[in-house]
Amino acid sequence: MDLGALLREIVQELEAERGCGEVARYIPPLARVDPRQFGMALVECDGTCHVAGDAMTRFSIQSISKVFSLTLAMQHVRDDLWLRVGREPSGTRFNSLVQLEHERGIPRNPFINAGALVVTDMILECLADAKQTLLDLVRQLSGAMDAAFAEDVAQEEAATGHINRAMAWFMKGLGNLKGDPDAVLDAYFHHCSLSLSCLELARAGLYLARRGNALDGTCVLSPRATQRINAMMLTCGAYDAVGDFAYRVGLPAKSGVGGGILAVLPGHYSVCVWSPGLDAAGNSMLGIRALERLTERTGLSVF
Ligand code: GLU
Repeated sequence: MDLGALLREIVQELEAERGCGEVARYIPPLARVDPRQFGMALVECDGTCHVAGDAMTRFSIQSISKVFSLTLAMQHVRDDLWLRVGREPSGTRFNSLVQLEHERGIPRNPFINAGALVVTDMILECLADAKQTLLDLVRQLSGAMDAAFAEDVAQEEAATGHINRAMAWFMKGLGNLKGDPDAVLDAYFHHCSLSLSCLELARAGLYLARRGNALDGTCVLSPRATQRINAMMLTCGAYDAVGDFAYRVGLPAKSGVGGGILAVLPGHYSVCVWSPGLDAAGNSMLGIRALERLTERTGLSVF
């Protein structure tokens, strides 16, 4: 099947729906993004790339960065990773304080904000510079050596991210954050602020489709650890709409409030879609529609 033609067909078919959904407003720079943008990039396991629409425009990857911080944690953190964060879908909003209190400061999974804060704390403990290490990893995997944190996005989120701050300090109070909460928040906000295009992000995520091996042959993770990240993406990667996402798309994926979704079909490809308008659960509305068409037309999903 000509996947490039399929991508272009999907973007063309959804042309009239550009701008649907609501852009995230609680982080000021995200509220200023043009909601009509829509791009799609797919990279096959042999490295062949296909793009359509605004696939080369960089956007704020936000929560998709949680995949890369979890990857660093699985590379470097030994025993206590899964003692300090769970592996179950949250079933609540990604920044729920109620659930965190109820579960005594152990976040449900690494892809909700509290979970990513704990993961960030753990990688800060074992890496000399967790911000730079994550940036280096993404640069190496995507081939985008000029990829960078959007300092303005990180600063504005730091200035407005009161709920994240509350969660970090709350977990510090309950003993599940070991380091300085402000340092953890600073690294977390920077990771979220990373700007990448659909093509760069699809390239960066390709190791998840290649049993942990990057295109240049580097072993990023073992095949087993890679299966586990994909399992987390399938069960926890689309906020509290994971069931609906699995039903409609059927791929492990991680979405972000910037409107990006990174998804993989192990053994076949990684794909990234981006359109800033979100649905009520916080997933890109057009992005899900595009991925739904992709797995429907190819007839392939993890199921
Ligand atoms: N930086 C955002 C936050 O912490 C990420 C949210 C997301 O993309 O899910 O609220």
